[in-house]
Amino acid sequence: MRKTKALIFEISKAGRCGLDLPKCDVPEEAIDSLIPQEFLRKEPAPLPEISQLDLMRHYTQLSQRNFGVDSGFYPLGSCTMKYNPKVNEDVCRYPGFSLVHPLQQPETVQGALELLYDMEQYLAEIAGMDAITMQPVAGAHGELTGLKLIRAYHRHRGEMRTKVIVPDSAHGTNPASAAVCGLEIVEIKSNEDGSINLGALRAAVGKDTAALMLTNPSTLGLFETNIEEIASIVHEAGGLLYYDGANANAIMGIVRPGDMGFDVVHFNLHKTFGTPHGGGGPGAGAVGVKSSLASYLPTPIITFDGSKYDLDYNRPESIGKVHSFYGNFGVIVRGYAYIRALGPDGLRQASEDAVMNANYCLSQLKEQYHAPFDRFCMHECILNSKKQAQYGIHTLDLAKRLLDYGYHPPTIYFPMIVEEAMMIEPTDTESKETLDAFIDVMIKIAQEAESDATEIKSAPHTTVVGRLDETLAARKPVLRWKA
Ligand SMILES: *Cc1c(COP(=O)(O)O)cnc(C)c1O
Repeated sequence: MRKTKALIFEISKAGRCGLDLPKCDVPEEAIDSLIPQEFLRKEPAPLPEISQLDLMRHYTQLSQRNFGVDSGFYPLGSCTMKYNPKVNEDVCRYPGFSLVHPLQQPETVQGALELLYDMEQYLAEIAGMDAITMQPVAGAHGELTGLKLIRAYHRHRGEMRTKVIVPDSAHGTNPASAAVCGLEIVEIKSNEDGSINLGALRAAVGKDTAALMLTNPSTLGLFETNIEEIASIVHEAGGLLYYDGANANAIMGIVRPGDMGFDVVHFNLHKTFGTPHGGGGPGAGAVGVKSSLASYLPTPIITFDGSKYDLDYNRPESIGKVHSFYGNFGVIVRGYAYIRALGPDGLRQASEDAVMNANYCLSQLKEQYHAPFDRFCMHECILNSKKQAQYGIHTLDLAKRLLDYGYHPPTIYFPMIVEEAMMIEPTDTESKETLDAFIDVMIKIAQEAESDATEIKSAPHTTVVGRLDETLAARKPVLRWKA
C-alpha cells in the first residue's frame, strides 16, 4: 500500500488558525496611500487554514520522507556526498560571522576579512596556485569565472583566441560554461582506456586555442595519465590549462594542479571541503590562478599589509564582479572550519580514504557487475549493467531496486560515454561496515536478477511513490497546486 499524503491545502478547514499575529498597527488609510493601487490585494490570499499541531505534523512527516547524507548512504558519483561535520555549522553561526553586514566598513569586520584572506592562502597552497577568488558560488560559476579570466588574459595580449578544447570525458558543465562565456567548443575523443587521445589533442590545438579544460580525475573516476604532455601541447600552442577540480577528493593534499602545469583551477567547497550542497545551492566554487592571471581576478581583492585587512577595488584589469560582495560567506566559513579541523595531514588522509573506499567497492563488485575500466580508480568507480542485460534489466532498474533497500542510488547514465553507467562514489567518511552492507545489497540485487527479475523491473516497492514516468516528469512537471 502506498502512503499517499494530502496537500496542506486539502487538509485546510475554514476558520482554523495555527498562530496569533499582533493587530496591525498601520492605519488602514495609511496602507491605501502607501501602497500603489495596482498592488493592493482585492481578496484575501487563499491560504490554508490549519491548526498549529496539524501544521507541524504535516511538514514533519514530509521532512521524514526526505533522504540526505545524514539519513543514509548516498554514493552519488561526481557529487561527493560526504558527511558535513556539524562543528562547521556551529562555527558559521557565531554572531561575529552570521551578523556582520557586507556593507560594513573593513575596520569593523577585520575578523571576517582575515578568515577570507586565510582561506585564500589555504586553497592557494592546496591548489599550487598564486591567487584565489572566493566570489563564485558554484562549480559551474567558477568555470565561467575562470574562462573569463582566460579570455581577459588573451585579449590583454592582443590575441583573439576563441576555442576551448573539452575532452568527451569532461563534466557537462565544462562545455556549458564555455558556451555561456561566448567561446567555441572543440570536443576531443578519449582513448579506450579513458585517457585523453594525444593525437586528437595535437590535431585540435592551434592559434585560436584559448584553453583546454580538463576534469581530473575525469568523470570516469580515472587519473589522467599524460598530464605533463597534455600541458606542454596546449602551452606550446599558446593556450592555457583549466583544471576542473570540483571533485578534489582524490587529490587534495597529494598532488597540486599548479604543479601539473595548470593555469586556472576551481574547487567546489560543497563537494570536497565539507560544506552542504543540494537543491542547487548554496555553494562555493573558489577559483585559483597563476600570477600571470592574478590582475584579472574579480574585485574586490582582500589585502593585508601586516597589520590590517582591507578591500582593494582599484584593479583596472579586473573582469569585475561575478557575484555580490564576497561570495557565499557562510559556506566559506564552513569550508574554513573543515580545513582547520583536518589540517594538512587530515586532508591528505581524507583523499586517501576516499580513494581506498572507491577501490574497495570496485574490487568487491566487479564480479557481479561489469567494470568497463578495470584498473585502479580514484574517489569513484564505474560499473554498468552489461551482465544483467541478458535478463532484460537496465541500470535504471538496479537504481530503483536500491531504493527498496534504503540506499540512495549512485549516479546513473553518466558519464555519457559509458553505456548504462553506474558511478559509485562512497566518499571518505563512510565506514567499512557501511560499505560492506551496501556491497551485500548490490550482490543480492545481482542474484535477484538471475533468479527472478520481476521484482527489480517493477521496483521500487517500499517508497512513498512507486516508479515514475520519468519522461512525463521531466517534460510536463506539475510544480504548482491549483484549486
Ligand atoms: C559538480 C561538478 C561541477 C559543477 O559544480 P556545481 O557546483 O554543481 O556547479 C563541475 N565539474 C565537476 C567535475 C563536477 O563534479
